[in-house]
Amino acid sequence: MKRREFIGAAAIGALAASAAAQAQPPRRTYKRIATEEGFLIPEVLDENERIMRAGGPQLMTRGAGVMAQNSIDIGAGRIAKMDADGVDMQLLLLSSPGVQVYDRDKAVALAKLANDRVAAAVKAYPTRLAALTTIAPQDPIEAVKELERGVRTLGLNGVLVNSHTNNEYLDLPKFWPIFEAAEALDAPIYIHPRDPAAGMAQIMTGPVLGGPAFAYGVEVAVHALKLIDAGLFDRFPKLKIVIGHMGESIPFWLQRIDNRFLWSTRTAPSKLKRLPSEYFKANFWVTTSGMNYKAPLMMTIEQLGIDRVLYAIDYPFENQGEAVKFAEAMPLTPAQKMKFFQTNAQSLFKIKTI
Ligand code: MN
Repeated sequence: MKRREFIGAAAIGALAASAAAQAQPPRRTYKRIATEEGFLIPEVLDENERIMRAGGPQLMTRGAGVMAQNSIDIGAGRIAKMDADGVDMQLLLLSSPGVQVYDRDKAVALAKLANDRVAAAVKAYPTRLAALTTIAPQDPIEAVKELERGVRTLGLNGVLVNSHTNNEYLDLPKFWPIFEAAEALDAPIYIHPRDPAAGMAQIMTGPVLGGPAFAYGVEVAVHALKLIDAGLFDRFPKLKIVIGHMGESIPFWLQRIDNRFLWSTRTAPSKLKRLPSEYFKANFWVTTSGMNYKAPLMMTIEQLGIDRVLYAIDYPFENQGEAVKFAEAMPLTPAQKMKFFQTNAQSLFKIKTI
């Protein structure tokens, strides 16, 4: 080939390459793992129905239409929606309040059944689904056994607790064997919201304060701070706790919590070894579930560091496609996006199959 022909061919090649680049966006270098995605099993919907008929709280039943259908689909239909919306993997959590409103024996049995079902779904789609172990805190000893079975035998990726159980929080010493087992297995515990405990619940109602609008976040923030206040992380310093919704407002409060903690403990020293914010930064990870909101995302990253912030959507309760578009539009570098969407989740939840 003569020199002039060579340059001509190279120029045409470059033009073709640049046209191709304009035709489609650059190839993604990371996978998108969404880490707080809801599922249910039909037996839970049926038990919810029975409890509601007996005058119990409002719960999701088969009558919830598309929401119930999307919740119990942990197979091909869910995968197709993930494909359409650009989600590579969902980490599945039994939707709130899970088994925590049932009597003890029913709760223990349905937790096991939910774990067996979701483990089978993960086995069917190992590169697309991962899941947390549901436990029934109503029986702390059985909860420890199920936690160990879920992580060791079923190969699940951590533990789920839907906040309080019968108005009791996990700061009570009777629940601490659960934390001891989780720390020993290096299994993160995800504290997911539910309707607030008695006392808070009565005043937090309606479309502005109730449920996910505000009450859920307050509920989990209170739970998280009670764990810090109880000295849990002095006893179990390697414990990993995960909370959603940009940290349930705690990143916004850290400076004031420390400031007032120092003031109120100047005359009556605290039993805590460290500042409240130090435990939050050492023992907590935060996901973005249900919060397509730039300012708190950037502040949470600034407060905790990019290694502690994980992507989550809150499917099927939130719009999966919108949540992907929002997160992609955030001013994060390619290296930050790699951590946020993929590698933070992989290392925290020990996801090896994506
Ligand atoms: Mn959720």
